[in-house]
Amino acid sequence: MRTRISISSVRGEFVSQVEMISGESLLVCNQCGKCSAGCPVAFSMDILPNQVIRLAQLGIEDVLESQTIWTCAACLTCVSRCPKGVDLPRVMEAIRQIAMQRRGNQMESIQLAPEFVAEVPQLAIIGGFRKYTT
Ligand code: SF4
Ligand code: SF4
Repeated sequence: MRTRISISSVRGEFVSQVEMISGESLLVCNQCGKCSAGCPVAFSMDILPNQVIRLAQLGIEDVLESQTIWTCAACLTCVSRCPKGVDLPRVMEAIRQIAMQRRGNQMESIQLAPEFVAEVPQLAIIGGFRKYTT
């Protein structure tokens, strides 16, 4: 007899959240390491791309503190190398979003000096609000 076990019921809310936001199934990754081997910015990461997905698979929320999620350049090299079709940049983005949600608003419009608003391109301000507010 086969028993079906839901991933989220075993590993909790964090895993479900990452999977829901990224649209990726974390258990598909078999930790072959090809993503890390080909990542052009792996040298500057504190943990390797395959380790990011491993921590996410296990629901270990320490991954939210990793610099790697911010270092990833979303260059898609890992996507083209992954034998399992995992879209790792989507997983990185999901983890970034969760990290930002937990930090709360980092930017308040009222704190922006009028001279700053007048000089900075509007797109940069909009981008900042998108990144630093929830
Ligand atoms: S290349 Fe794909 S399957 Fe291999 S470790 Fe990276 S994400 Fe996992
Ligand atoms: S998308 Fe990110 S993790 Fe993947 S190869 Fe590029 S920089 Fe590395």
